[in-house]
Amino acid sequence: MEYALQMIANFNLIELFKLDVGKLKIFIAEACKRYNEVKFHNFKHGWSVMHMSYLLLRNGASKYLTSLDILPVLVGCLCHDLDHPGTNNTFEVVSHTERALAYSYDSVLERHHSSLTHRLLKSTDCCILENLSSSDQMYVHVAITDIILATDMRYHYTLVKELESASQNTPPFVVSSQTSRRELMKCMAHAADISSQQLPFELAKVWSDRCIAEFINQAEEEKLNGYPVTPFMTDLDTKEQQCRAQMGFITHVVSPLWSAVAVCFPAVLERCDQLKQNHDQYAEMAGANDDASSSL
Ligand code: 5GP
Ligand code: MN
Repeated sequence: MEYALQMIANFNLIELFKLDVGKLKIFIAEACKRYNEVKFHNFKHGWSVMHMSYLLLRNGASKYLTSLDILPVLVGCLCHDLDHPGTNNTFEVVSHTERALAYSYDSVLERHHSSLTHRLLKSTDCCILENLSSSDQMYVHVAITDIILATDMRYHYTLVKELESASQNTPPFVVSSQTSRRELMKCMAHAADISSQQLPFELAKVWSDRCIAEFINQAEEEKLNGYPVTPFMTDLDTKEQQCRAQMGFITHVVSPLWSAVAVCFPAVLERCDQLKQNHDQYAEMAGANDDASSSL
């Protein structure tokens, strides 16, 4: 929680927006409380996503954004999975949860995380935006919604395409264009959201185990309830299957996005190298040499 505060302070946002430090501390503590003790989608995940977006900002992204953009990026990333149940949107939909009904079966979890974030920001003890003008407050609220909704995996390929196309331009983003800035903010949040496999292998493996534990749990719940079982959550019982799942995730999901991130921000190449090393480590552990790691 102290580091979360420090990340906000390091961008000078406390002075700039006259944020009340006492309320900011309570806001972070309340955000922490609103995460569940599930294996993967817990406060540490929210914190890690905030941290990775902070690192992206520090390594090239901040020059394309205003301070009024950086505040919602950091707050939005910290809160992007508030009250996550450890099962995904498909599960919300097939089990017709209260949330699915409230949000018309559309990005159910993301709308829930976003709504909780806005409520928190409006609560008496946590209203850190109180000293911003009402138009700046609105700007931050809308930006937070955009960022959190962009973490729905259904936008993954759209964001990859957008980032690939931005990476062809010099410079890739234009600070004077709100559309360009917003695109960057959404891509950053999503890139940070799927960045656990870019960490040193010991850490990447811990997050991999946590993610797979949630998948196995959801598949069991689906079976128990007689719902269709999500294909990528089955056949994860052996270490080899788990390693192969991670190899597929790295090659087909993470790598295309992060390769484009690295074109925009070359400092990120180090993380792409780590991603490749981790892929190869999973391949070795799976006893596999037939996966197309050369595509990384
Ligand atoms: P989130 O649910 O955190 O907002 O979005 C990230 C999604 O990416 C997760 O729900 C999960 O489906 C996928 N993901 C993240 N990390 C991993 C991983 O290490 N392995 C696999 N197979 N999927 C992951
Ligand atoms: Mn997440």
